[in-house]
Amino acid sequence: MGSGPTARLECKVCWYVYDPAAGDPVWQIEPGTAFEDLPPHWTCPNCATEKSGFLLLDDD
Ligand SMILES: [Zn+2]
Repeated sequence: MGSGPTARLECKVCWYVYDPAAGDPVWQIEPGTAFEDLPPHWTCPNCATEKSGFLLLDDD
């Protein structure tokens, strides 16, 4: 629950939210890409925090 392919995660440093529905234009990540499917070297496009620095957001 909450950690599926549509789960959004928030950077705990700058509060940037990765939303799979939007992808990430900075890294040229296609919309529909789950957080877990981001490249291992992906970092926050805003502050360069690693994936491990992201926290799961609770969905409605
Ligand atoms: Zn960040």
